[in-house]
Amino acid sequence: MATGIIYSDRYMDHITGFYHPESPARMSAVMDNLRNSTVWTSVQKIDPSSAETEIIQLVHPESHVSRVKDICLSGISPLDGGDTTVCADSYSVALLAAGGIVAGVDGIFSEEILNAFCVIRPPGHHAELTQSTGFCLFNNAAIAARYAQHQYGVEKVFILDWDVHHGNGTQHLFEDDATVFYLSLHQFPFYPGTGDSSEKGHADGLGTTCNFPLSAGSGDESYLDIFENSIPEIVASFSPDLILISAGFDAHARDPLANMYVSTDAFRSMTEVVVRLADEVCHGRILSILEGGYDLAALAESSEAHVRALLAARD
Ligand SMILES: [Zn+2]
Repeated sequence: MATGIIYSDRYMDHITGFYHPESPARMSAVMDNLRNSTVWTSVQKIDPSSAETEIIQLVHPESHVSRVKDICLSGISPLDGGDTTVCADSYSVALLAAGGIVAGVDGIFSEEILNAFCVIRPPGHHAELTQSTGFCLFNNAAIAARYAQHQYGVEKVFILDWDVHHGNGTQHLFEDDATVFYLSLHQFPFYPGTGDSSEKGHADGLGTTCNFPLSAGSGDESYLDIFENSIPEIVASFSPDLILISAGFDAHARDPLANMYVSTDAFRSMTEVVVRLADEVCHGRILSILEGGYDLAALAESSEAHVRALLAARD
């Protein structure tokens, strides 16, 4: 089965303003590089449609969805009083990002593809139940988990978040839910402030949240040690039916927003571990969702390395 690349040029219509790091240029950097690489002829290209608002409401209440829509349509303004800027098209682009998620989950569970990388924006993992923040409007990974459960009767979903920032939104949405495991590696202390190792979930979800806070300056050795020596056992004991990756590439050594030293090759190695685990526990099903990554060349290179490892899963 194939590896899907899910992308629309309309993802560039979410205009965040001059000098904003979460820029439309991130899309062209990733896609131009993929199109010019040897992986391009091997991947299945998927052009998504917008998700219905009911899909967003699997995670966010209708009142929040309406509020985001109204603020976007009013013109450029920050959604959170900070740096989550939007334009009139941002709401429809966010629906299309969720549509990319839907296309990926549908493709995997209809067995048209084995795995996929969603080259989408705006990103999602900082989006809380009723708050859009950290460049994120709606929580794409959370929508993927809930859509897979709702549409395909999937019982357990594992979300592995290697974006350099902690995915506060995703953790909070599932921290009392035993059916969705949230695991994050991130720079700590750092934005958004959450993600201490003591945060392990609560109520029914106690034990299905796992944080690996890493000090600034960590690099390949720290990341690969966790991937090789800790994550396999955690994934195997949870035994998910689907693995989602919140794939931010801002832990890259060249990223301007963070202070980690992960190499392009390490992102490939990390993906290889996830591919192997998915093969062992969930028939290879991986939906990878782009989060951050702000050095355009590093983002493009790392995305290609990531896709190469996803492609190798077919063998
Ligand atoms: Zn990030």
